[in-house]
Amino acid sequence: MHTCEQSIFIEGVWEPALSGSTLAVKSPADGETFNVISKGAKPEVDRAVAAARKALSGTWGTLAGFERGRVMCKLSALILENCVELAELEARDTGKPISQARTDIQSTARYFEFYAGAADKILGDVIPFLDGYQVMVHREPRGVCGMIIPWNYPASMFGRTIGPALATGNTVVLKPAEDASMSCIYLTKLAHEAGVPPGVLNLVTGLGEEAGAALSQHPGVDFLSFTGSSEVGTIIQTAAAMNHVPCVLELGGKSPQIVFADSDFERAAQTIVNVITQNAGQTCSAGSRVLVQQSIYDPFVELLKSKMSNVRVGAPSADLQCGPVINKTQQLKVQGFLDRAHTDGIEVLAQGSMDESAGPTGYFVRPTLLGPVPTTHELAQQEIFGPVLAVITFEDEAEAIAIANGTNYGLVAGVWTENGARQMRVAKKLRVGQVFINNYGAGGGIELPFGGVKRSGHGREKGLEALKEYTVTKTIVQKHD
Ligand code: ADP
Repeated sequence: MHTCEQSIFIEGVWEPALSGSTLAVKSPADGETFNVISKGAKPEVDRAVAAARKALSGTWGTLAGFERGRVMCKLSALILENCVELAELEARDTGKPISQARTDIQSTARYFEFYAGAADKILGDVIPFLDGYQVMVHREPRGVCGMIIPWNYPASMFGRTIGPALATGNTVVLKPAEDASMSCIYLTKLAHEAGVPPGVLNLVTGLGEEAGAALSQHPGVDFLSFTGSSEVGTIIQTAAAMNHVPCVLELGGKSPQIVFADSDFERAAQTIVNVITQNAGQTCSAGSRVLVQQSIYDPFVELLKSKMSNVRVGAPSADLQCGPVINKTQQLKVQGFLDRAHTDGIEVLAQGSMDESAGPTGYFVRPTLLGPVPTTHELAQQEIFGPVLAVITFEDEAEAIAIANGTNYGLVAGVWTENGARQMRVAKKLRVGQVFINNYGAGGGIELPFGGVKRSGHGREKGLEALKEYTVTKTIVQKHD
């Protein structure tokens, strides 16, 4: 891949930042700089928003849904054609094992395929009203969408946000994360090649507090979509409030995996360990608390220990279960949680091991199982965003539900039991946006509406539900007598 001094894309043209500044792109596997990106800021955001506004009333605004869908199908096909290169770039940029990166690129293609199929099915409503009246409800695009996405799944976040936005006829300014912008640059090139007209998709690389802040505060933006930390979510929502624009916030989580005595131990334990080590635990929907019924504590935790001990950590190219975390700050943050747990006397039950490909300059962390953790401890309450799993015990169903709901977050939950009535009873009482019963899908499921409650955010991405976020209704009342 050539260097990316010109990684800002406005109205169909690649350019450097006006300031000429760049940001180093580092590989989490060895800490080495392997590229640069342009450090865009307010001037680039201003121009990108103006281009997106202009494009709304250009050809994009007049294309039929099926024509937008065709462009998106072409983009999906191009993503698959470029899968190997994209996956290698994603693995290098984020540190994730190469097969996880490949899965992410496949998902990215699927997002465009899924939403391409929806582009000509954005239906309205006819509402029966008074005699002599005809009432229609149209669904129209929001307008200019400002997208701010994180570094954990950059390519698939690109698909998740740009897919429904384009399908519904919006135009976009995307600000990828400064720690992982490379796949978004590549995907933007493919979008252009697929026939997304100039100005419809604009990309401004740069820092959150500069380019991101300028985008979220911009009065020319009609809608904001943000995925990232709860802290920055508050900043984005405040900016949205100042301009009175809606926003979708996908924030953190402390998702519980509730394991009852009658569950399939083997399946539960393997899935729970897989999910917390996938993407080195840097998944907002990662199940980072495992709630184990007291009566099965010993045998179930033994199984978790053996699965966790089997996890190997290494470089993306070694393609093991777990790669490095994204940067030094994240590595220190995770280590800080482990150090404080040690000081607080919480036992390390098991740890994964380092492969020889995990060199000393990479940001590697050993996946760790700790417990029993008191429900009030930070390990049981705060999002760590690393491969750290806290074991918590409960006596009965009521206590499990109370503990599961007992954090500020509410994103996803897993329920493991063979009792069908209990499965549904518990699922209904959990304050979260998704419940998995005897399975758990962190990050996957394009078709499945996804989003949180409480400090996990609001609004829904994925599935057909996302189309409602990216459109706004207009009610037309005609008197015809
Ligand atoms: P993480 O903790 O996953 O790094 P952040 O919430 O810090 O997540 O970042 C997610 C995205 O938000 C990134 O694209 C980042 O550049 C952007 N961002 C960070 N700070 C701000 C801000 N003050 N205003 C707007 N965007 C921001």
